[in-house]
This record gives sequence, C-alpha cells and structure tokens, in this order.
Amino acid sequence: MDTMVTEKTEKWNRRYRVHVDHRLCDGCGVCLCYCKPSVFRISPELSGRGIFPAVPEAPQSCTGCGLCELGCPQLAIAVVADDPEGGAA
Ligand code: SF4
Ligand code: SF4
Repeated sequence: MDTMVTEKTEKWNRRYRVHVDHRLCDGCGVCLCYCKPSVFRISPELSGRGIFPAVPEAPQSCTGCGLCELGCPQLAIAVVADDPEGGAA
C-alpha cells in the first residue's frame, strides 16, 4: 500500500509539456472545456491559417490527465512528461 501511495505522489508531482500544432488546430475550443486546471486559452491573434488557435498558456498547471489529447477533434495536442533529468520522458 505504501508503494502505491509513493507512485501516485510521483505522478502528480511530474511536470508536463503541452504542445498545440497550429497547422491542425481549428480553434474549436473543446480543449478549454476538457482541461480542469485551465491550461489553454484561445489566442486573440489569427494564425497563418486564418483561425484563432488554442495556446497552452499555463502548462505548469497540467496534471497529465490526457483528456485534451483524447478530446481534440483535430488531434492537434500532444502532452509529454518531463523526466527528472530535464528531458522529455
Ligand atoms: S480542441 Fe484541438 S482543434 Fe479545438 S481548439 Fe483545442 S487544440 Fe484546437
Ligand atoms: S493533459 Fe489534462 S491537465 Fe494537461 S493540458 Fe490536457 S486536459 Fe489539461
């Protein structure tokens, strides 16, 4: 039981990088609905494709739940855990 608590604590202490591919994002805003810690906002500036894309404004709040990746209809989001050495896991 102690081991399970330790593993969960380590998971929730991890940091994540959140990427939005603006070549795919159509600005639908679904990711804002899925993300409980409000990592995303819609950019006030048009992208090269003429849409207002999502931007990961507060990636430090990401819990790594993965809901945005699953819910994005354009598959434009990637969430990657940082390893303790500073690289991507
Ligand atoms: S759900 Fe996907 S397509 Fe919609 S705004 Fe977010 S990143 Fe863009
Ligand atoms: S993985 Fe979860 S917490 Fe992180 S940006 Fe996506 S929805 Fe938000």
